[in-house]
Amino acid sequence: KLCLLGIDLGGTTIKAGLVDLEGQLLVKAQVPTGAGDGAAAVLGRIGALTDELCRRLGITRKDLKGIGIGVPGSVEGEKGLVRLAPNLFWRDFPLGEELSARLGLPVAVDNDAHVAALGEMWRGAGRGLQSLLMITVGTGIGSALIINGYVWRGFFGYGAEMGHVKMLPDGPLCHCGGRGCLETLASATAMVRRFREYLAAGRISRLQDAPGLGAREILAAAAGGDELCLQVVDEAASFLGRALANAALIVGPEAVIIGGGPVQAGEVFLAPVRSYLTEALGAWQIRPLPVVAAGLRNDAGIIGAARLALQLT
Ligand code: BGC
Ligand code: ZN
Repeated sequence: KLCLLGIDLGGTTIKAGLVDLEGQLLVKAQVPTGAGDGAAAVLGRIGALTDELCRRLGITRKDLKGIGIGVPGSVEGEKGLVRLAPNLFWRDFPLGEELSARLGLPVAVDNDAHVAALGEMWRGAGRGLQSLLMITVGTGIGSALIINGYVWRGFFGYGAEMGHVKMLPDGPLCHCGGRGCLETLASATAMVRRFREYLAAGRISRLQDAPGLGAREILAAAAGGDELCLQVVDEAASFLGRALANAALIVGPEAVIIGGGPVQAGEVFLAPVRSYLTEALGAWQIRPLPVVAAGLRNDAGIIGAARLALQLT
């Protein structure tokens, strides 16, 4: 068996790659998730993506040792039961069993941010660290807590669900049903929503609104000095920085690793997150807390999922 299939199932995009047993990414591809079409359609897309990747590498499914998949929600048990994935609108979906039956291979399932942290500890910025807090910023906000080298999953699997810590009473409504959850204020989706709200309120920006507008464009415009975009990024960073400081005060991590699309934009996002975090920690910043971008960049989820598959026997 030559390689592992790692899948990063996101609220917006499914990313997948074939990874060798040492953690080298050999080939990758992505398709839109289309969560609104239902779970069966999403499974179909994962199947097609798998075959496409195998074809590109000139192998068949039989050459795969196993499949690992990170999902944007809480996962319970060895069988990979997805209990709640707010941005996929899934509740109690037996993903592990369904995917394994469809593809005829063993499948390991876990939360996407937990999986990204596994990848970072294996091949990325978490190498050699014992305790860390990883946060992923995308459609939602995911988090993972590594304590003494161990991924803390919580008693029921929803340990480290920082995307839903409550930051603002009466804040925006979250897909989880709550209000003012961190991901409604600091995710990529939140930045786009906030930008549009400001435009609707008459604020001006050099950036034009467009149907597919994403945080990437907002961050690029902010880096170029656009005031409205800078404000939107600053607001998101302030919520994220303070939430990270609160978490750091609880767990006292060695480092914070930030992954997800917005981090690709670099310091325009990371710098304000760091400064709000430092400010909120205040005198408790007894030793500087490193806040770094994911070393595997946007591939952390794929490589971490492959790491998860490696544990399959
Ligand atoms: C989910 C998390 C997930 C995160 C990132 C949140 O909405 O609750 O489980 O890790 O999105 O996808
Ligand atoms: Zn929520």
